[in-house]
Amino acid sequence: MSDVILEARDVHKVYGGVRALNGLSLSIRQGEIHCVVGPNGAGKSTFFKTLIGVERPTTGQIIYKGEDVTRLPAFRRARRGLSVKFQNISLFAELTGLQNLFVPLRRNHPKSEIPARAAAVLARVGLAGTEDLPVRYLSHGQQQWLSIGLSIAADPDLLLLDEPAAGLSVEETARTADLIRHLNASGMTVIVIEHDMGFIRSLRARTSVLHYGRLFAQGEFDEIAANEEVRRIYLGAA
Ligand code: ADP
Repeated sequence: MSDVILEARDVHKVYGGVRALNGLSLSIRQGEIHCVVGPNGAGKSTFFKTLIGVERPTTGQIIYKGEDVTRLPAFRRARRGLSVKFQNISLFAELTGLQNLFVPLRRNHPKSEIPARAAAVLARVGLAGTEDLPVRYLSHGQQQWLSIGLSIAADPDLLLLDEPAAGLSVEETARTADLIRHLNASGMTVIVIEHDMGFIRSLRARTSVLHYGRLFAQGEFDEIAANEEVRRIYLGAA
């Protein structure tokens, strides 16, 4: 079995006359944390959308666990273990964190198991003790972690996070990095799409830099941070 869990092969995406992706090829290894960065307009969001299946590439392929999923709708990819946390969170503010988790858990588990499973997910994302609080009383960071909880409720193999540290305090950002490492240590492959290099630095993960819809550089974070060309196109622009 290949150690690659997800691969983009020569992906192009054209919107009208705009080439959002222009021959992007990149592989995500099974079990890694992989950060995807790049300046505004580099194609990160478009790449994210083609991975999860809300946009189809104009040409090229997305291969997930050895299967060509380019034309597979998002919900079918989710059933195969690919989960997403979007930047904008959608939680039920008047329900508790536990109750919010009932919703995704109900799809896969018998009713009798759901409260215990929901409590376990809440603890996994560092929110033990908040079980009975309506979500509107949680901090922004806690709401982000609960939202990650919703995304991992079905025990995905691959978790995609879209700018998970956006709008968080320094301390919350550090806790988010810890949470990502913790999930990864339990076997989950994690892809983090991020604009903020500071957060990526704290993850110290393999990093791909996109520029003009292509893979511009790839390597361990320290290599990327030391790469003069990357500094020029990315850090200079940030
Ligand atoms: P990033 O997330 O790195 O900022 P995007 O994927 O959002 O980059 O955008 C890449 C390029 O594609 C940009 O030039 C953007 O304006 C363009 N683009 C993205 N989505 C659309 C769309 N729906 N229609 C037209 N152009 C788009």
